[in-house]
Amino acid sequence: MAKNRNDSDEPNTTEQTGNGESGDSGGGFRGRRVTICSFCGKTSREVGPMVEGPNDVYICANCVDLCQNIFKQERRRTTVNRPLFTSIPAPREIKEFLDQYVIGQDAAKKTLSVAVHSHYKRLTQLDDDSTPIELDKSNVLLVGPTGCGKTLLARTLARMINVPFAIGDATTLTEAGYVGEDVENLLLRLLQAADYDLEAAQRGIIYIDEIDKIGRTTQNVSITRDVSGEGVQQSLLKMLEGTIANVPPQGGRKHPEQQYIQMDTSNILFICGGTFVGIDDIIRRRIGKRRIGFQAESGTGSEADDKATVLSKVTPDDVLEFGLIPELVGRLPIITPLLPLTVDALVRVMTEPKNALVRQYQHLFSLEGAELTFTDGAMKELAGRALARDTGARALRAVLDEVMLNYMYDLPELENDGVEYVIDEAALKGEQALQDLGRKRRKESA
Ligand code: ADP
Repeated sequence: MAKNRNDSDEPNTTEQTGNGESGDSGGGFRGRRVTICSFCGKTSREVGPMVEGPNDVYICANCVDLCQNIFKQERRRTTVNRPLFTSIPAPREIKEFLDQYVIGQDAAKKTLSVAVHSHYKRLTQLDDDSTPIELDKSNVLLVGPTGCGKTLLARTLARMINVPFAIGDATTLTEAGYVGEDVENLLLRLLQAADYDLEAAQRGIIYIDEIDKIGRTTQNVSITRDVSGEGVQQSLLKMLEGTIANVPPQGGRKHPEQQYIQMDTSNILFICGGTFVGIDDIIRRRIGKRRIGFQAESGTGSEADDKATVLSKVTPDDVLEFGLIPELVGRLPIITPLLPLTVDALVRVMTEPKNALVRQYQHLFSLEGAELTFTDGAMKELAGRALARDTGARALRAVLDEVMLNYMYDLPELENDGVEYVIDEAALKGEQALQDLGRKRRKESA
């Protein structure tokens, strides 16, 4: 596409004429001509000044922009993405990476690691024309309660594989009257996450939350809900299966000569998630008598344990009975449950991940020269409070922030050097002032 430079050192620019007639030679205006962009065919009257190359070749500003984008994409494809798809991390490596950020959910992590590995392996095969067998795409369905790590898993996976990632919500698709457009907005989000690198976006991951909300529920049949629900499902189907979608390139960038960007969804990995409230009853009904066996085996029989055990048995049939249409279930062949987080798991969520909440507070305290410690009892108490709110790990921040607010308020005013503040159960219950929690510590060994 690059042309040789003009004979002169600098390329010439042309300008828009006043009311001159169109044509190469300028309809009577001296020194100024209407030129035509050799790339898009528009005249200088429509698109402004152009750069002139040798042999009457012209290019307008819009086409220069477009060329820049093309070069940028090409550069990125050859530099960033190339090494990415020549070595796909093994499932074990993927899981070990997930372990650093996501607590528990071992079954889901294992399933996803294999699924993601296979998905990207499949893409490398597609590049290889000699492959005898075409592998089917396998999108994933995550079933589990709110705040147990579904979104976190999908996001962390994308980070591990270093591909663009976008999140959508199936319920917003239901609300919009014109479903086709909204479904494509998900793709636009992915394209934006890829900084408009189409090639990269077409290999990205899209997480669609609340997929269960667009199903028809057998228990609660509402005609309008049914219709819109299935409408959305139908438009999602195409996207999940693989289609060329027309994505409107809103969002600031200019794409001259393109009303829509054509995006191929066949290599995008879709991970769908939903809470599927009540699905445990469906599973229970299916496994029927055997449930009694579980309780007898474990001996604990607690309601939470029972629910987790039941949920871990989820199959596509249960999801079907819950109300997703068969075609959609068919396009989500990998289904994996995520279990509700227990008190112990919530304690780990607060402390173990790299950016865990407790670590963040400890860092804030260290900036003031102080140390912050929570006793085990306090951690359990906080986790218990979060659990009671029924929003999984999401409640942890609110619970912890409530406790820490007054302490953070007072902290800068105290003499903090070498002081360790210990938060125990009594502190959580008794509303003790921060200075009562401080213990002077000589840190000789430090
Ligand atoms: P959902 O299952 O509803 O998609 P999210 O993944 O959005 O839940 O979780 C909300 C927040 O709770 C996350 O950003 C993360 O901080 C925390 N969280 C939830 N589950 C876990 C988990 N298993 N391990 C670590 N953090 C978690």
